[in-house]
Amino acid sequence: MVLLAVAILGCGLWAQAGTVSLVRVSDGATPMGTYMIITVYAPDEAAGRSAIAAAFQRVEEVEAATSHYREQSDLSKLNRSAGGPPLAVSPHLFAVLRRSIGVSQETDGAFDVTVGPLVALWKRTWKKGTPPSDAEAAAARLCVDYRAVRLVPDGGRVQLLKPGTQLDLGGIGKGYASDQAIAALRERGISAALVALAGDIFAFGSPPEKDGWLVGIRDPIHPGKIFPNPLRLKNLAVSTSGDYEQFGEVGGHRVSHILDPRTGKPVVGMTSVTVIAPDATAADAYATGLSVLGADAAMAFAQKHPGIEVMVVCEREGKTQILRSKGFERFEVALSSDP
Ligand code: ADP
Ligand code: MG
Repeated sequence: MVLLAVAILGCGLWAQAGTVSLVRVSDGATPMGTYMIITVYAPDEAAGRSAIAAAFQRVEEVEAATSHYREQSDLSKLNRSAGGPPLAVSPHLFAVLRRSIGVSQETDGAFDVTVGPLVALWKRTWKKGTPPSDAEAAAARLCVDYRAVRLVPDGGRVQLLKPGTQLDLGGIGKGYASDQAIAALRERGISAALVALAGDIFAFGSPPEKDGWLVGIRDPIHPGKIFPNPLRLKNLAVSTSGDYEQFGEVGGHRVSHILDPRTGKPVVGMTSVTVIAPDATAADAYATGLSVLGADAAMAFAQKHPGIEVMVVCEREGKTQILRSKGFERFEVALSSDP
């Protein structure tokens, strides 16, 4: 998990938008084993607080349906049903699985929410400090195949076609939850908000008299620092995945928590991948999937997909390189130029 990759800069305490004076309200919570900060502009403090409370409540609903840490979640029930008949699931779980399968198709299976058996295998390994045998990795890999997830729109049902299939939404769930938080805020009439769920951020609208939110991306090479040029984002999401904060150790080597479904092994050399996308579900899933595909493929992906911009920090031949897709720089702001 990449902990909060943002710093929020340059927000006034209050401002005038048209004739309505808006108040900036911010609050935090700790869903999904991490932390979440929501900042909104609202007509008054009470309206802001109640909108934020509704957003946190929505995130709790998403977590209750999609967490594999909760035995009674629809996700856990579905995992227990693998190889059996279709199961009716929460609309949240259905929606996030639909998006997951789409990203799997676009990334040729590099992103795959059926990665559960591999995640479990490598977690056990991290504890022991030795990598799994090739046979163990091959056996786990056999159960990884997003095509074994069958969505039945009639009745919102899902079927896991192969016994042993285990879903793990770690690579997309926080992005989906961020989008849902924004949806809840919009339902409460909020028109400017910044939602940050660890490294998954949605910048909705703009603070009064600004043109977008400034979002700082943490520099993975210099712990505690952010890149000098923050991103200015409006109605866009950004997500960062990387091996620089959550990793295991095997034989003294740092091991990414992102696994390559094609090899059954952790990704190496991709220090961080930052993706700008129209929503946080896409940004989160692409950041994970492009980490698997590697730096050059990530750049090619951005080139091919309008609306997607990517920055990669990677290790090549012992050197750290930073690559940006063509349009990424458009969002970077030299701070001195910010009014
Ligand atoms: P973070 O949790 O730091 O935000 P990611 O969004 O990249 O990072 O998610 C990493 C998590 O995604 C892993 O902990 C695991 O649960 C899951 N995962 C690992 N490899 C893959 C993969 N190839 N496709 C989809 N999900 C993955
Ligand atoms: Mg992700």
